Amino acid sequence: MFDSQTNSYLDDDSPHEECGVIGIFAPSEDVARMTFFGLFALQHRGQEAAGMAVADGVTMSIHKGMGLVSHVFTPNSMADLNGHYAIGHTRYSTTGSSSLRNAQPFMIETIHGPLALAHNGNLINSAELRKELMQQGVGFSSSSDTEVMTMMLARNGGDTWEERIKTAMKKWVGAYSLVILTRDCVYAVRDPWGFRPLCIGLLPSGGHAVASEVGALQTLGCDAIRDVKPGEVVSLSNNALKVMQAIPSVTPSAMCVFEHIYFARPDQTWDGINVHHVRQRLGEELAREVENGLLREADKRIMADVVIPVPDSSIPAAIGFSHVSGIPYNDGFIKNRYVGRTFIEPTDSLRKRGVALKFNVINENVRDKRVVMIDDSIVRGNTTGPLIKLLRNAGAKEVHVAITCPPIAHPCFMGVDMGMRKGMIAHKRTVDEIREFVGADGLYYLSVDGMMRALNRKDGFCQACFTGQYPVAVDLSNVKTGFEKVTK
Ligand code: SF4
Repeated sequence: MFDSQTNSYLDDDSPHEECGVIGIFAPSEDVARMTFFGLFALQHRGQEAAGMAVADGVTMSIHKGMGLVSHVFTPNSMADLNGHYAIGHTRYSTTGSSSLRNAQPFMIETIHGPLALAHNGNLINSAELRKELMQQGVGFSSSSDTEVMTMMLARNGGDTWEERIKTAMKKWVGAYSLVILTRDCVYAVRDPWGFRPLCIGLLPSGGHAVASEVGALQTLGCDAIRDVKPGEVVSLSNNALKVMQAIPSVTPSAMCVFEHIYFARPDQTWDGINVHHVRQRLGEELAREVENGLLREADKRIMADVVIPVPDSSIPAAIGFSHVSGIPYNDGFIKNRYVGRTFIEPTDSLRKRGVALKFNVINENVRDKRVVMIDDSIVRGNTTGPLIKLLRNAGAKEVHVAITCPPIAHPCFMGVDMGMRKGMIAHKRTVDEIREFVGADGLYYLSVDGMMRALNRKDGFCQACFTGQYPVAVDLSNVKTGFEKVTK
């Protein structure tokens, strides 16, 4: 829930994913309805705006709006969305750009016909590209890098859209998993680093669908699912699925590790790795590190009576932690899954209740117990303390906090909103100082090595928010955050 008085999410200290995308070619189906249900399955990737564009081989229509997929789309608003080709988008936006003008897809008329684009990610050189286009006389109606990409595609030379996309990819630096709609084709495009997921599947009735997550494809009944590989452009149209390696992939890849830690649904499988399994192993590795005293020599191991997750993303990790540590697992919090999805601001008295608006404690499961609370991450540190307080008020004797990733001390410029360094609790603070700040009896973070062991990989994942080592060089004066400050 966004609180305009404090300019923050009252009950939420997780990083925010910027979007989910879907694209469908289905010759004998109501493609708008399919896109709606696909977007529904991607709702967790963005709750602030949704949209879809549909083409019938000749014309293109679009509908988008602020709010949840079920608010934006009604039988009425979908009545004119007819055709065989569609793309859709769910959006989370940063504070400065939460407006309808930034909702996606972006649709424009070009010399080559209508063009629409929906994007998950963030171009780190968008300010520079935007300036170049403006110097050439191009005007913009939004502050979004997606509009920059749309305008570049419209202006690029080349006989086919594939050629124009390939030319643009050579200039785009950063994270982009895209779906592009023309009057008679859907294109799926992934950046050469592979930052964000994008997968493709075969529809039971013929045709194909592409989406940020496998779960959305399974909702549509797809099988034969494969990833769109880094640097690829895949065309979905009347012709068979066409795959082009538009630009070489970067080795090693830089898949966002946070997809596994927090963003993706547990049923997501990405590059052959299932998210639920990773989360369980993150909990197992964390328990091993705590037992070995790797993080805090003095503790050796946590002596506790119960392991509880902060629902929902930490449930598999808590199961894994319990399995390795031998400390029994139980539910401690009940989460109201709907309160964080409202645009109605709380009254002052309700605001003071903070996370208590979203979480209730099952008192009987924590009273007189030494509790280990498992959570996926701490960014600003504004939620952990209140959660600990809820447990103490419910009678917990001790509260230890175990986090399934390393301390987050660096911003993300590849499409995830974590804020800047000065707002991060781990910036310039030791683990013990953070423990004191949140009021825990113990605080334990998983190491980078432990995280990679859980992924069963040595490399191939971006870890920049933990290490500060970005897979692409970042010019701070040229990234989106700086750019939005100028244009707000
Ligand atoms: S910096 Fe962190 S959140 Fe951003 S892409 Fe890398 S791992 Fe993901």
